[in-house]
Amino acid sequence: MNELVTGIAFDPIFLKHDQPSHPENAKRLESIFSELNKKGLLEKVSRLKCRSAETDELTVCHTNEYVEYVKAFCENGGGYLDPDTYSNSYSFKAAAIAVGSSIDLTELVISGDLKNGFALLRPPGHHALANRSMGFCLFGNIAIAAKVALRNSLIKKVAVVDFDVHHGNGTQALIADDPNILFISTHQYPFYPGTGSSREIGTGDGEGTLINIPLQAGVGDTGFKFAFEEVVIPSLQRFNPDLILVSAGYDAHWDDPLANLNLSLTGYDWISRELIKSAERICSGKIVFFLEGGYNLDVLGFGVTNAIQRLSGIEEFEDPLGKSLQSEPDITNLIDELKKIHEL
Ligand SMILES: [Zn+2]
Repeated sequence: MNELVTGIAFDPIFLKHDQPSHPENAKRLESIFSELNKKGLLEKVSRLKCRSAETDELTVCHTNEYVEYVKAFCENGGGYLDPDTYSNSYSFKAAAIAVGSSIDLTELVISGDLKNGFALLRPPGHHALANRSMGFCLFGNIAIAAKVALRNSLIKKVAVVDFDVHHGNGTQALIADDPNILFISTHQYPFYPGTGSSREIGTGDGEGTLINIPLQAGVGDTGFKFAFEEVVIPSLQRFNPDLILVSAGYDAHWDDPLANLNLSLTGYDWISRELIKSAERICSGKIVFFLEGGYNLDVLGFGVTNAIQRLSGIEEFEDPLGKSLQSEPDITNLIDELKKIHEL
């Protein structure tokens, strides 16, 4: 029997959705591939053959009108879909392939054909809403992957952990009433996009399945460790999912140009390892990471490479940027409040 390997999803069209003057540009993936290449990791992982999502997969989370609108808009050459989100003539195709490959990578991990995975995709997805683009995102890659896996009865329960610095408002909106999807988000708060307070806990049948961990500016490795040990990991354990999906944003790093949390690459590596260990304990190691934000190219290159090394079982990581020199605010009150709200 062949040993199971980590899968990555990447298609060259992800580089064609591009605007070089915008922070969310193709250089982000180029930086990641350059680092993966230097480490020889591309020979150790399995590369997925990517395909476009079908309309009935996109409409698991989005309205038909919105899907048709984005398609026609991009076919006409594109432009700004909203004040933050650009598109060009390749963007619909890139976004639809990002979703299709997210679904396939997730299914191959569920079926046991792959050990785990990292979807190296653009455009990102966690801000996209049912009927509009938002925050550089066109379609909700991770929410659709979760919902399609549930729809196809491949699993009964899935947890989504989002450590991007911005609240995953799109993912939250798309899954908030689903009792079979646990969504846990750590994010800077108050901050873009404005949502993600500790009181947002889900709606209808999904009440209690949203766990928002709003962090004030300056929180770094110590605060994240506290939040993961006291809230994130116990919540995962209690929910007992069949699969863990991760919205992996590297903009919570102290040197990211867009935000003000202070994680280091060492802190990110700790988080990746804890999530992988949780997946091993809870769901036979079934875990898939999805690229979201991260706008410092070095941080992205090292951060994603470190995560893929850990997914592949390689006990190595690199942190040439070091730690933030700022001292961290204490988040004991927040953690106490969250433990009360969620009865942890
Ligand atoms: Zn972000």
